[in-house]
Amino acid sequence: AKKLGRNNFQFYTPVMNEESMERVRIESALRNALERNEFVLHYQPQVDLKTGKIVGMEALIRWQHPEMGMVPPIRFIGIAEETGLIVQIGAWVMRTACAQNKAWQDAGLGKLRVAVNLSARQFGAPDLIAGLESVLLDTMLDPDCLEIELTESLFMSDVTPAVELLHRMKSLGVNLSIDDFGTGFSSLSYLSRFPIDVLKIDRSFVADITIDANDAAIVTSIIGLAHNLKLAVIAEGVETLEQLDYLRSHGCDEIQGYFFSKPLPAGEFEAMLREGR
Ligand code: C2E
Ligand code: CA
Ligand code: CA
Ligand code: CA
Repeated sequence: AKKLGRNNFQFYTPVMNEESMERVRIESALRNALERNEFVLHYQPQVDLKTGKIVGMEALIRWQHPEMGMVPPIRFIGIAEETGLIVQIGAWVMRTACAQNKAWQDAGLGKLRVAVNLSARQFGAPDLIAGLESVLLDTMLDPDCLEIELTESLFMSDVTPAVELLHRMKSLGVNLSIDDFGTGFSSLSYLSRFPIDVLKIDRSFVADITIDANDAAIVTSIIGLAHNLKLAVIAEGVETLEQLDYLRSHGCDEIQGYFFSKPLPAGEFEAMLREGR
């Protein structure tokens, strides 16, 4: 270990070196990615299980770096959160997704709902509400056509300010969903106090739904819980017809997953809408 100042020790092991170099590389490249237009959004359809129609789509960020190539979200979202860069990146995602949805509506492709992921860091940022207001105003998107995906982690610490913020978001007319529901180890009590519209069943529960009785029990319980609370429920990570059938026969409202389509670039998503699937 080499001494760096009073309390800082840096350990030079090959693995750490590689990892921290990769981190530094991603962090510095991330700082320029927005202005260099390196981000794009892909859209994954959300399908109503009663009608079989596309009713919405989740916007998922993709980073095309000139040298590193396509960098998947798992490699940079965490770093963007730690550095705070997620606030600007997230604002870009929100604006781009809303503008795209409005453009599709104006082109006569249907009144769909776009779901956008909101990180905890954005949730805590002071201009969240004003930013949302200006995006809705500028894009002229009906707020009912925007769904904001939150994770349970937002509710685990200081609950009171979260309730207030959620009510302020709700008062804009947008929909709120809980992403990765069931993985957060948080108390369920927030469900009755927070103005939530949708539960998204995490794909880890969906994966073995047809072979593991415990996962099946968890999923049917979440569907029942949602409906008893008058919430809609969507299952993510649906990859097979068997999973789809199970979810439909147990009353799940919507599905999202590779079985129907992987996330697609805007042009391909639009082509799919035009084919009228
Ligand atoms: P998430 O919000 O849970 O998004 C769903 C992830 O599951 C996406 O991964 C999607 O491509 C993947 N997926 C969809 N269907 C299937 C399926 O049938 N099987 C399997 N195995 N996977 C499926 P992706 O796009 O790599 O995103 C990973 C995570 O990165 C997201 O998880 C979300 O937490 C984060 N993320 C992505 N875009 C954004 C963004 O714009 N803002 C923020 N804050 N986070 C984002
Ligand atoms: Ca999500
Ligand atoms: Ca999820
Ligand atoms: Ca996730």
